Amino acid sequence: MAAVGSGGSVGAAPGMAVVAPLPALTSRLPVRRAAAKRAASGPQPAAPEQKRARSGTASSQPPGRAPLRALSVPAAPGPGPPRKALTVTAAPRTGKGNCGAAPVPAEAPVGGAHRRRAAWDLKGQLSDLRAALGNQKEKAQRLDGENRQLREQLRELQEALQERERRVEELDGCVSTLSTELEKHRQESELRGQQLEELREADRELSARLEAAEAQLHQTKAALAQSDSEVAELRLRAESQARRLREQEELHEAEVAELRAQNQTQSQRLQEKEEQQHALEMERRRLHNLVQELKGNIRVFCRVRPLLAAEKEKQKGMEHLHFPPQDNKTLVLLREEESHIGRERKEDLKYDFSFDRVFRPSASQEEVFEEISLLVQSALDGYHVCIFAYGQTGSGKTYTMEGPDALDPERRGMIPRAVRQVFQGAQELAEKGWQYRFSASFLEIYNESLRDLLGARPECGELEIRRVSSASEELHVPNLRRIPVASEDEVLQLLQTATANRSVARTALNDHSSRSHSIFQLRIDGTNAARELRCSSVLSLVDLAGSERLDKSQSQGKRLRETQSINTSLSSLGLVIMALAKKEPHIPYRNSKLTYLLQNSLGGNAKMLMFVNISPLEENFSESLNSLRFASKVNECVVGTAHANRK
Ligand code: ADP
Ligand code: MG
Repeated sequence: MAAVGSGGSVGAAPGMAVVAPLPALTSRLPVRRAAAKRAASGPQPAAPEQKRARSGTASSQPPGRAPLRALSVPAAPGPGPPRKALTVTAAPRTGKGNCGAAPVPAEAPVGGAHRRRAAWDLKGQLSDLRAALGNQKEKAQRLDGENRQLREQLRELQEALQERERRVEELDGCVSTLSTELEKHRQESELRGQQLEELREADRELSARLEAAEAQLHQTKAALAQSDSEVAELRLRAESQARRLREQEELHEAEVAELRAQNQTQSQRLQEKEEQQHALEMERRRLHNLVQELKGNIRVFCRVRPLLAAEKEKQKGMEHLHFPPQDNKTLVLLREEESHIGRERKEDLKYDFSFDRVFRPSASQEEVFEEISLLVQSALDGYHVCIFAYGQTGSGKTYTMEGPDALDPERRGMIPRAVRQVFQGAQELAEKGWQYRFSASFLEIYNESLRDLLGARPECGELEIRRVSSASEELHVPNLRRIPVASEDEVLQLLQTATANRSVARTALNDHSSRSHSIFQLRIDGTNAARELRCSSVLSLVDLAGSERLDKSQSQGKRLRETQSINTSLSSLGLVIMALAKKEPHIPYRNSKLTYLLQNSLGGNAKMLMFVNISPLEENFSESLNSLRFASKVNECVVGTAHANRK
């Protein structure tokens, strides 16, 4: 008998079973391990008995199978759970199927030491051998069966093992999922922990604040209690005051009622006064107009300018001009002329002219304006007013109308003075319920064409005089600037613009300013909203072109045309004025641009005033005479007083 250490390969002599101790069944791979171990240790050299056994037995197993054979499983009869059958024990067993290590005496007739046949007993020996052989065969068969069973068990075990491995893998998967989740939960719980800590901190803070607020509330309540008592005290005081006030109020109400009654009578009186004032204002207008009409709706003033410093060198005094003392309406022109009777005798030629007013050279601008200021008032009252300056070039027309400096209080001309009076008058009339709006335009007429002095607009083409509408007789100049003005200063600015524009033209057109008419117009619109009254008028101040007669034989080309157009317009102005004075049915406005433009401002109730400006120079005698004759004609047809006498 030979025993091999556990796990070693088993070589068993025939009839001997070697049982290696089995690893516990809970071990996962008992068989594999054994095989692996064997494989690791390599094929063991077979013991001599093994060799013998192999050659002596029919069953030959490959070395790898040896451990299986080493397993000894009780051949449990009948079906039982395979696992139970696996219960292997190394305890010696008896009886058939025992493959334990213990010798079985009854079955060991061969080679045993019990009984030996005598050498001669060949028959006996043979029968022993046969019996032994039969035993061995039977045993081999039994072992085969066991072997099959064991293989089956092994397969089942391997399947179970695979199942377990699969299960283990699944569980591994579950474990990793669970660990991930666990990690997530751990992080979440950490976060929650932080949040909880924050909440706790907030809670602590809120508690502190609550405490503070409670303390404050407490204080406030105390203060409130205090102020409650104060309020109660004040209420008492207020009630007593209210009582006193009620008493006073009753007194005041009585006073107010009385005052109201007084007020009513006063406002009635005021209304009456206003009515009276309005009636007086209207009466003033009527009377003012009457005075103007009595003075003549067409008036002529003569103004003789002083000798200029340079002129005084050429001419001493003004012998040819005589101003009768104590008479401010007459001017006499004197000239010595050779008598046609005899060479040595000279005759004084005397020309008397009477006008509404004659201003001597010493007359100041203020004196002159005094006489026309009533006309300016008429313009505010709603009458058209036209003031012309007529005379030869250099006679003082521009000086009279504009003055050398609009800002010089002494020397400013009629235009700035009239403008000032208009704005002052408008202010005074505002107290009587009149509101005024003003707009100004300034243009010149040269060679019968119009030019805007407040800024030409070449893109609009030539300025034309047109009817406002086909149904209306009213005229206007469509593209002429008419600038709204609200103060004297604004108008003065426009006058400066016009002066600048004119001086540009002067250099370009060789003193055409004296060859053109310049017309400043201030449109005045007044409303008395309370009484639904309106008035509108135009104040026109015209600086006419020089009236001197140029020697026609010398006038050529441009000069001739200029002269013709000036003559035409001045004579048609005279004709229009005369026709108006005589109330003729046809007024020849259309004969010149000047009269056509002024058509709306002449005639009807319009007031006209003509300055005839006279040069003090003797060399201008005949021009002065012409001017005075023209002015006389205009004057004569209205008042019939002016006349020229030639003695
Ligand atoms: P007109 O416009 O008729 O051609 P101006 O008004 O230009 O004439 O006058 C010619 C010159 O005489 C200017 O130098 C002007 O200052 C001066 N002049 C005109 N009238 C007076 C006056 N009343 N007092 C002082 N200088 C005057
Ligand atoms: Mg002039």
